[in-house]
Amino acid sequence: MKTYLGGKALKSLQTIPFRILMVNEKCKYRGCDEDIWEKSDENLCIFHDPQLDKKNPEKIKKLVEKCRNKDEVNKIKRILYQNVEEVYCFLPPPISELMDFPIPKLRSLYQDCYQTLLIGRYNASIVLMGVLVEAICKERIKIKSGEDFQGPLGQCINKIESENWMKYKDIKFLRGFKDEIRNKYQHFDEFEILKGKFFEVYPLKFEKNLSPKKLKKFIKKIKTGEVKSSYVEAANIHGLRAPAKKTYDKYLAIALFDQIHFFLINSLIRYLSSEDYEEFHEKSENPLSEDLYYKL
Ligand SMILES: [Zn+2]
Repeated sequence: MKTYLGGKALKSLQTIPFRILMVNEKCKYRGCDEDIWEKSDENLCIFHDPQLDKKNPEKIKKLVEKCRNKDEVNKIKRILYQNVEEVYCFLPPPISELMDFPIPKLRSLYQDCYQTLLIGRYNASIVLMGVLVEAICKERIKIKSGEDFQGPLGQCINKIESENWMKYKDIKFLRGFKDEIRNKYQHFDEFEILKGKFFEVYPLKFEKNLSPKKLKKFIKKIKTGEVKSSYVEAANIHGLRAPAKKTYDKYLAIALFDQIHFFLINSLIRYLSSEDYEEFHEKSENPLSEDLYYKL
């Protein structure tokens, strides 16, 4: 910066033009607050300039500096902490406190769902609940048949149903979950997710530029009841889909997690019990020869 403003010029420019020059010096990537990398041809910072090799020592040095910036880290921590505080009380107690969790891969997948919920990534959490449910089904098939089932969730459910490996009410839950939630989220089908769901909006039509003053006036009219809200089906309004889905995801993820949590506990007791595993190990061949084991 000082290369642009030296000596007398600095004094005469004072604060405001100085700030304008500062703004001009920022990376042009939307929302980025980093300084422009001096070698960038496109006014981008060192993190956003695509010319720069990932292993460039200059970039690595900058990244290390960035990590040492405690202000940034604390800002992120604060956001995460606020979300944890808000959501934690709606969730069932962490499963490891409830019972011994004998299957590491399911524990890990469960933690994926739980922790993404805590940090407010609701869409991700719902997608991961689909992964967890599919893993439960595949584990059930594995211990009953020894087969590493390759098909998608629908085929897993068909197989389990045809072999009577789960109770009817659990099969019904799985089918409903697959059709109503899992498939729509897996394929990011916004229209199907929002279809039939109405959201309260305050319709605002503005000509030319929307100034903060005009907006303030509009908000005041909402507060005094002069402007009335209406309900719209967000699926049909493209611009409304993203904010509507964000709101809906939060509500759905928290409510759904409860059901997934109990489906998992139910499965651990009924379908993946230690007796089931003993039976499975008795039937399956051990690929390691006896002399490889340490005798205790
Ligand atoms: Zn940037």
